[in-house]
Amino acid sequence: MNILLIGSGGRESAFAYKIAQSPLTSQLFIAPGNAGTDAYGKNVDIKVTDFASLGTFALENDIHLVVVGPEEPLVKGIHDYFLQDAQLSNIPVIGPTADGAQLEGSKDFSKQFMQRHAIPTAASRSFTKETLEEGLQYLETRKLPIVLKADGLAAGKGVLICADLIEAKTELRAMLADAKFGEASNKVVVEDFLKGIELSVFVLTDGKDYKVLPAAKDYKRIGEGDTGLNTGGMGSVSPVPFADEAFLLKVEKDIIKPTIEGLRKDNIPYKGFIFIGLMNDDGNPYVVEYNVRMGDPETESVLIRIESDFVDLLMGVAEENLATKSFKVSEKTAATVMLVSGGYPGKYENGKIISGLENVKESLLFHAGTTLVNEEVKTAGGRVIAVTALKDNLLEALQQATADAGRIYFEGKNFRRDIGFDLINY
Ligand code: ATP
Repeated sequence: MNILLIGSGGRESAFAYKIAQSPLTSQLFIAPGNAGTDAYGKNVDIKVTDFASLGTFALENDIHLVVVGPEEPLVKGIHDYFLQDAQLSNIPVIGPTADGAQLEGSKDFSKQFMQRHAIPTAASRSFTKETLEEGLQYLETRKLPIVLKADGLAAGKGVLICADLIEAKTELRAMLADAKFGEASNKVVVEDFLKGIELSVFVLTDGKDYKVLPAAKDYKRIGEGDTGLNTGGMGSVSPVPFADEAFLLKVEKDIIKPTIEGLRKDNIPYKGFIFIGLMNDDGNPYVVEYNVRMGDPETESVLIRIESDFVDLLMGVAEENLATKSFKVSEKTAATVMLVSGGYPGKYENGKIISGLENVKESLLFHAGTTLVNEEVKTAGGRVIAVTALKDNLLEALQQATADAGRIYFEGKNFRRDIGFDLINY
């Protein structure tokens, strides 16, 4: 069958790699893709939010399945767009409709969802400009630190953890009265701080049944030792040594099942991935956030551990018979190290020539911000290439990915040499 994959990051490169492996795939198209994805299919120069062009392309190229990588087209309703058209509605889309995508698109919606379905999460209340005074009073009643979250999508920047009350009040005022994050902070969730250690759990669902994909841990800070500014993610590992079987069973019982059932009770048909950001507090899981797509760079570590036919699983979602699909996960450990442009996550330059890709023999290279210019691979984004190794144990995987990260060159290249090493002794 012909498949259209939407997106251009390292996550989509990993999707493309898995989709191309499947004997069920005839032709894979990636819109818009990057310099690496055309090794697995054909790049198509259409923006992820240009639904009309994506729809026309799908019809003209006999597409049987659309797989959506990033959140923006989901929150903006790509699935709804396909469902509302007589011809396009015959093409299944992997990714929720806009109502389901609110789990990520609105933090207030997702907190209300968790409260409604008794899913463990931090206590919270939401406030608007009109209820700012109540919000300021509420802050006085809570323990510090306290977490302020802009309701809408704010490119990962809309969450503030405030250590003192004056700072929290100033920030709440800035978000609500002065639109610090624009429309995204028209509403703000004020949430208690959760202690513990973070990890991500991923679920694939057809709306009735689900498969729990391998868990992963990502590394968000730019600097070694988890220091400096937040990034989109500098690396990841899967499995997560501190997420043992007992913990993962609790996650399934207390969080995953009620989430899938909650969506059904709320009449939200959901076909796609759910990324659950969790805090593990002494063996007890709490939801930090939902995302309605896979994470990046977690996907790179998660997907290469899935041994079953990935397209068959996706078809299980499309045809609502996921329960009948075989699902096998490798016992091995995957580690991903992200190569980023000098200056990222601040200002950086694009257009640097990338060399040494052929030096990497053992790891997989998942391109992210890369482009092909006159046969040369050049940088075209902050996060440039994910280097992923799959080995028998964590140390070997980390050593391989980190060593291979050193074998690629471009001016200003930066990467963390300590991804995952904090987990060696768990
Ligand atoms: P991202 O783009 O990174 O997914 P986001 O903007 O969607 O982030 P959250 O994931 O809700 O926002 O929060 C970002 C980070 O802030 C979390 O990964 C976590 O480290 C921290 N955080 C959020 N909520 C809490 C909380 N209640 N207690 C402690 N830390 C928190």
